[in-house]
This record gives sequence, structure tokens and C-alpha cells, in this order.
Amino acid sequence: MLGHVSVLNFIIHSLIMDSSFFQRLKIFLSIRQQQWQSKEDLEKIQMKKLLETLNSARKTKFYGGALAKFKNNDLLDDLSHFPITSKTDLSAAPEDFLRSSLDKSKLIVETTSGSTGIPKKLFFDSYTTNYRAALLAMIQLEFGRSPFDLYAEVSLKTPPPFPLSSLGLYRKLYLPLLDDEEKTFSTLNEKKPDILAWYPSMLTMMAKINDDNGNPLKLKKAFSGGELLTGPSRKLIEDSFSCQVFNQYAATEVGAIAFECPEEHSFHINSNSALVEIVDDQGNPKEQGVGRIIITSLINQSMPLIRYDIGDLGSWGGECSCGRGLPTLESISGRADDLVVLPSGKVRSARHIIPLDFLDSVKQYQIIQESEDRFTFRYVPAKSSLSQKAQEYFENQIRTGCLGEDIHVDFESVDSIKRGKSGKLRKVISKLTKK
Ligand SMILES: [Zn+2]
Repeated sequence: MLGHVSVLNFIIHSLIMDSSFFQRLKIFLSIRQQQWQSKEDLEKIQMKKLLETLNSARKTKFYGGALAKFKNNDLLDDLSHFPITSKTDLSAAPEDFLRSSLDKSKLIVETTSGSTGIPKKLFFDSYTTNYRAALLAMIQLEFGRSPFDLYAEVSLKTPPPFPLSSLGLYRKLYLPLLDDEEKTFSTLNEKKPDILAWYPSMLTMMAKINDDNGNPLKLKKAFSGGELLTGPSRKLIEDSFSCQVFNQYAATEVGAIAFECPEEHSFHINSNSALVEIVDDQGNPKEQGVGRIIITSLINQSMPLIRYDIGDLGSWGGECSCGRGLPTLESISGRADDLVVLPSGKVRSARHIIPLDFLDSVKQYQIIQESEDRFTFRYVPAKSSLSQKAQEYFENQIRTGCLGEDIHVDFESVDSIKRGKSGKLRKVISKLTKK
């Protein structure tokens, strides 16, 4: 746990950064303390917020009609009777999700392209923006970020420089995500940051370049988020930079959802801002095993989202030994939209075809399912061309992941793999599955 120094520095940070300082500080202190409350107390807080969310949703065009068939108390007892909201619903008519009689000019609008390129328009009120900033600050502190660390973020957006950084506090280094990777690495190696964040595809690439150069760059920590972090990628990053990786699970629609426990590998759900359900394909609750992650956002009362299918898969975790009362997810296993459809019609999660070995033979890769029985393994070779052995392994891994069905894999060597509009690099793209 972090002491008063962090709180004090957070106060200074917020004072300088934003006029909504008191609101952010209040939220920050409250969620920082709430994570240690008992499961029962946290459930009570969550139910109060769910009730508020249901009442807001009743005032929206999208939910108004459907909610009229339900009493609040019945939904508080069991939310799983209410229909699931899909990404398509949201992208089709985003303004239908807005609470009536709102002053839209006061809302912040964000458009996200999404991995399939379907734009989603999202509206946030200032409370939501402040809540998200406070939650992110809390998560980073839980991950052990110190105010004195030089924090490097490779991202699409470059915010203005932070005023206190000249005093050595909250120093940030932003590097353009789309820059040449060797150039990014050389800047990192020159500046020697303590922390590097976020996309695991970028962290992996930096780790590979670091390895090729004899590991001149060591980090205190690496923060991962935004994309699936696989076991081999985590190991590669940790070994290369001699540091621990902390993983965060977030989505533009609802902000930070869960963060990896600093003591264990399970993910703590921030139950004050997100009500998470895990359901089967029919939408029924699943107590065990992997299912679809469904989220009810409890913060943004201007644009409520109830039982929203975020497009990810996960499974419940048990009680964590760290003492936090927040519920846990054991796994968040890849984006459900990265599903592959087999020639037999069966659907498999993309994680089954992701290679776990021979990863040092490629700098980057992307598997594209062109049709039911044809895949393209697109890669940037690490050195010369791909060895026969590696090629056989990748092909086998895809076939095994496809339950041994009759599929064909083409290999395509490229100079680079283009990131999506959001900056994310998708490992698997199926041209057959839609969100
Ligand atoms: Zn824990």
C-alpha cells in the first residue's frame, strides 16, 4: 500500500492539471479506500449505483421501453433477465442512449473506431471524466508508480507537457505509437524511463529490440493494457527489461474495468464503476469456465450502458489473498470478436491459434482468417526468412487450434504490420466474424 506521500503528490498533480480537482480527489480517496472494504459492503455500494443507473436508463430512448417491463427491485435481485446490449446497438443509434433533457453541449464526445472499424460515438459527462482519471491514477499507484518515476507512454495522443515535471515530479515521456520502432527504442534507451506503458504489442517489440542490443534498457515496471497480453509476451517483456509487468483491463465504453492484483495474477474488478457478469451464449449467468464478459457501467449516468457485451471472454476468480474485497476475474482471454469460424461451423476463440513458441523468429505477426479454410500468417521476420521449422510450428498451431480441421495456411512476409485506427495491433482478424 502507498502512504501519504502518494496522496499528497496526487493532490499537487490534480491541482495543477485540472480545475475539477476536489471532485477527482474525493473520488480518488474514496475508491482507494473502498477496495479494502468487505465483499458485502462493496455489494451494497454497487446495488445503490445500479439503482441510480436503472433510473437514468429509464429516461433514455434505447432502454426506456424495455425497462418499463421490469421493476427496479426485480432487476436488483437478478439483472440477467434484462436483454443484452450489443456493440451494434450502440453504434447504430448512440444518441438513443442519452438521458432525455440533457444539455448535450456539456458532454464530451469521443468516437472510437473499434477493431472492426464500426465507429461508436460515446458521450461522457464531467463526473465520468473525473472518475476515470481518478481510477486510472489509483490503479497506477496500486501498480507501484512513484511520483518520482519517469513514466514513458507510447501512444497515439501526445498531451501537453506536465508543469511539475520540471521539478522532477510526475515526469512523462510520450512517444508516437506510429513512429519507427527502432527510433522509439533509441529514445527510450537514451531517456531511461522507470515505467513503460501500455500496448503489449509495443512492449513486446521494444523487448525484442532490447534483446538484440544486449539489454541496455532496464525498467522498474511495465504497464500493459488495451490488447491481450499473452503468457509468452509477458515473459519476454519481464526477462528483457528485468521488471514486472502489471496488466490493466479497460475499454473506451466503460473505462478501467479491472486491474491485476499487485500480489497475485488475478484481476480485481472495480465493482464501484462496473458490474461484471459472465454469461454463456444464451446470456445465462456462468459460475464456472470461460464465458462472455457483460458489463453494466455504473458511472456515466448521462449515457447509461446496461448489460453491454464488451466483446471479451473471461472467467471468475476466487477470493484473493491480498485482502481486497473487490471481486476477481481469473482470466480475460482474448477478445470474443476475434473468433474464428471453422469449416465445420464450430466457433473457436482466437487464443487457440495464437503461437506460443518460435516467437523469436518473428518481430510481429498477424493471423488473418480469409475464409473458413484459409488463413494468412502475416509476419515481419526477425532476421532473414522464416525457418521451415518455425513455419511448420505456426501452421500446426493454427490447425490444432482449429481442432485439426482441414485448413490451409499461407505465409506472407511483410516489412511492417499496420496498426488499427485506435493504435491497437490485432493478433487475429477473422473476415468471417462480426461484432
Ligand atoms: Zn488481490
